[in-house]
Amino acid sequence: MANKLSLKIITPSRNMFEGEVDMVIMRTLSGDVGILYGHQPMVTILDYGVLNIKNDGEEKLAAVLGGFAEINDEGMFILTDAAEWSNEIDVLRAKQAKERAEARLRNIQDNIDIKRAELALKRALVRLDIGNLSSDKR
Ligand code: ATP
Repeated sequence: MANKLSLKIITPSRNMFEGEVDMVIMRTLSGDVGILYGHQPMVTILDYGVLNIKNDGEEKLAAVLGGFAEINDEGMFILTDAAEWSNEIDVLRAKQAKERAEARLRNIQDNIDIKRAELALKRALVRLDIGNLSSDKR
């Protein structure tokens, strides 16, 4: 049997996942990266994106909103400020967050506020994307 990758996902409010998996695809600042058992040690910053966990022919999707991933001899650790499984996403809340951010972007001039609104918009789009991905699979 192929060796499995030990994965832990930790958010400020919970130990979201702990288990052995076949593969993890994460969204880093330089694009999507797939990690298998035995990957060389690395630390990388995560972008806002969909995390795809593959195990025994099944997939689990989560929205991961930044943070970082470390791979070492013990496995893979993801630490993030916010993450939700696809079935936990409140689609209405994400739509409202998207509308708020878009309205701000139409009205503000200040650079810091523009950046904040762009980031909020990006988080909302990831959440809506994953909501669509998982409803496509139903
Ligand atoms: P909002 O403006 O709706 O709070 P946000 O992007 O500012 O959205 P975050 O700061 O990323 O929210 O997350 C704060 C907390 O709320 C985290 O625990 C996150 O998992 C949760 N959360 C945010 N949006 C949603 C959502 N649409 N569905 C489920 N949980 C969410």
